[in-house]
Amino acid sequence: MVIVDGNIPSENDSESCYLTPVAAPGSGQGWYTLTRANGAERPAEISLDEARLSQQDSEVGTLLEAYGWIKERGLAVAAESIQVILISNIGPCTGCKARLRIFYSDLLAAAEEAVSTVPITVESVYNTPEASRDRTRGNMIPTTYGYPDAVQTPYNISGRQGAYWVYRLQ
Ligand SMILES: [Zn+2]
Repeated sequence: MVIVDGNIPSENDSESCYLTPVAAPGSGQGWYTLTRANGAERPAEISLDEARLSQQDSEVGTLLEAYGWIKERGLAVAAESIQVILISNIGPCTGCKARLRIFYSDLLAAAEEAVSTVPITVESVYNTPEASRDRTRGNMIPTTYGYPDAVQTPYNISGRQGAYWVYRLQ
């Protein structure tokens, strides 16, 4: 979800704010796979195995969609702020947390190139009992879903109460 100047997008909005299509697992291609010679560089702390396993995750396609819209449209229309919220049912895995950092720095670079000075924030929002969870994936590759220092945020919508986790990248 790309909120521009406080405008919260609904489905099919792409004029002044943007909601990416829901990405199916395995839909991601290109820049954020971290496995392509012509894509974003894989950080040293992410093993090639971890990158390969997690390149099927929904974040790969979603981040590219959001980046494309912000670069083509969002930076031109934003007068006050751009707020990106990545919503998932569980928090991002270790590989996708690296993708999210790269995405954020890509946005800052695109803003500089467009000579835009609006503040850009990127947040991960998810809904699990605990802020983060260590798991083993595929062929014994450890990964951590979610951010241990995410902030628990209560909600109360039409009598439905609960809490979700928010982590803001810096
Ligand atoms: Zn992932």
